[in-house]
Amino acid sequence: MTYPEMRIGIDLGGTKIEALALDRTGAELLRYRVDTPRGDYAGTIAAIAALVHRLEAETGSTGTVGAGIPGSASRRTGLIKNANSTWLNGMPLAEDLSKTLGREVRVANDANCLAVSEATDGAAAGARVVFGVILGTGCGGGVAVNAEIHAGPNGVGGEWGHNPLPWPTADECPGPLCYCGKRGCMEMWTSGTGVARDFLEVTGRAMTTRQIVAEAEAGVPEAVLTMDRFLDRLARGLANVIDILDPDVLVFGGGLSLYGRIYKDLPARLPEYVFGGEADMTLVQAKYGDSSGVRGAAWLWPAG
Ligand SMILES: [Zn+2]
Repeated sequence: MTYPEMRIGIDLGGTKIEALALDRTGAELLRYRVDTPRGDYAGTIAAIAALVHRLEAETGSTGTVGAGIPGSASRRTGLIKNANSTWLNGMPLAEDLSKTLGREVRVANDANCLAVSEATDGAAAGARVVFGVILGTGCGGGVAVNAEIHAGPNGVGGEWGHNPLPWPTADECPGPLCYCGKRGCMEMWTSGTGVARDFLEVTGRAMTTRQIVAEAEAGVPEAVLTMDRFLDRLARGLANVIDILDPDVLVFGGGLSLYGRIYKDLPARLPEYVFGGEADMTLVQAKYGDSSGVRGAAWLWPAG
């Protein structure tokens, strides 16, 4: 494979679509962001196509196109599933984008894009097996092996957010009902939404996750205890991931990844739950932060 002149990455989010052009070395050329036409599939395709055309017109070159989405394409049918941007579900997104843009467009889960971005030239560069953990509004994950996505035959490789919270206490059973139809999924506990719900249930006070984290950092006891529970649940959930995958690096993205105790306290908590009592891997914050998804989408067309 030859190096493409330009790589275009698209991050199709629930509220924004971001488009980024990288040159052949991975340096950023241009970036645009538009509102997602929520609930409008044809409008979503048109918005992505317009962004690609704009980047190409302004750079004067043609790019490969990769798109990160909050879901995955069924290998069986090519149709999107598991997208919380529900108007994408059941639609042949890659095929429609490819037709509209007149070239093959690669589509992957956004957590997988984070893992690829960080494994390519980010905080996990050079690591063989990388598990990308997204702690945002929801909680997701993705696996990169040698900087390439491991999605698996069902496209759910790394989807730890819908595994149940391990070793639940009596208080944690049966757990909140998840939108996937099951109870007690990790996403209900170790996401921004989960932290805010937990705080509300225990204290009777409604606060945003950002406020809870700020209060915890200021030492307010109720908030500190909420974040203690968050870290312990995160340790339990990731211990299951480690027991199955044993990645070299855990790289964290999403709004909650800015919480410093993840890197300071989690390494000491993981061995309590990992089989054999050792958890010698690197825990790092995503180097590219919010941009990791869109960079990883561009890297769906790898170098060499
Ligand atoms: Zn679920």
